Amino acid sequence: MNLEDQICHQLRGIPRSGIRDFFELVQAKDDVISLGVGEPDFAAPWHIREAAIYSLEKGETSYTSNLGLLSLRKAISKYVDSYFHVSYDPAKEIIVTVGVSEALDLACRALLNPGDEVIYHEPCYVSYSPSIVMAYGVAVPVETRAEDNFALRAADVEKKITDRTRVIMLNFPTNPTGAVEPPEELEKIAKLAVERDLIVITDEIYSEIVYGEDNGIIPAKHTSIVTFPGMKERTIFLHGFSKAFAMTGFRLGYACAPHVLTEAMMKIHQYAMLCAPITSQAAAIEALENGAPMMEEMRRSYAMRRNLLLKRFEEMGIPCFEPGGAFYAFPEIGKFGLSSKDFAFRLLEEENVAVVPGTAFGKGGEGFVRCCYATAMDQLEEALNRMGRFISRL
Ligand code: PMP
Repeated sequence: MNLEDQICHQLRGIPRSGIRDFFELVQAKDDVISLGVGEPDFAAPWHIREAAIYSLEKGETSYTSNLGLLSLRKAISKYVDSYFHVSYDPAKEIIVTVGVSEALDLACRALLNPGDEVIYHEPCYVSYSPSIVMAYGVAVPVETRAEDNFALRAADVEKKITDRTRVIMLNFPTNPTGAVEPPEELEKIAKLAVERDLIVITDEIYSEIVYGEDNGIIPAKHTSIVTFPGMKERTIFLHGFSKAFAMTGFRLGYACAPHVLTEAMMKIHQYAMLCAPITSQAAAIEALENGAPMMEEMRRSYAMRRNLLLKRFEEMGIPCFEPGGAFYAFPEIGKFGLSSKDFAFRLLEEENVAVVPGTAFGKGGEGFVRCCYATAMDQLEEALNRMGRFISRL
């Protein structure tokens, strides 16, 4: 039997993540400084880990409700209300998932019929297009550009809307660019969604990591599309604990949406996943209730690293727009005469520094690389020294 033939057709056309391919190479080398994986370098704050340990000590090792612990959903509802200014009913409008990754998959599978089109902005997180395609949808990218600071133009979205469009998918602040969307433009996209009767899936996993005044030391105000008129009833709001609370390994996220939509997502979740892990849920309650000071400390530390990176890029003559959020910079390396893949491979080969080729995030990423600066300051400085040496040879 040829096992390749046994793989379903839908999956065959989906490439492996470009990041994964690249990091298999990285792992095979010693002394690499990685600005690659999009993950905080902090361990989850101790009080959060302690809550997980205490939950285990108490013998909490069971399943929870499919939707997640009600106490956690209540904590999520309170947090979302105070930070995003939108209120969701913890009993009916919130579902706790295994990361935003699962929430994204559930949202696509709950909504899409074969051939339905989903508009999203590129460069974007590697899982968007595959999540759409695996749900039998059609992925319709809209290019964002360096000259717009990678914000999404509502006019570009409008041009892509057809009779088959069902969903607009957004991610601000954006992985991989660090872009934030100007509220005026977000409002125009919201108006389009209402006028054309579209659902919006908004992934706001980086929303607390935003840089405002005083070189980003003061947090910026984050605006969610769900707060514009007519949006709450057509939006699936996704968020999680991986980034702001440095809890990637806990694998916990959530979706907030009108009951009909959370109910549809729940049907898939209950059969595929049953529930998110109870230990992680206990930790998440602690994160929401008492995690703000540590979260802010980490955010400030990212702000300082961002500033160092931008200053050094400027000194090296590498153009890079100032990212307003997340912990990524997306410098433009096209002028050095290498494709982004060659740039990343040679930088790894010659100087042991890992960055991700921009093309891993869509065609529009050609000419750019993604640098994750959630890396210790001394490592970051050394990576920048090595990058400087590399560039001077090109
Ligand atoms: N969305 C975006 C934009 C991301 O960058 C990531 C992680 N890199 C995810 C979702 C997945 O996060 P989680 O760990 O919650 O599954």
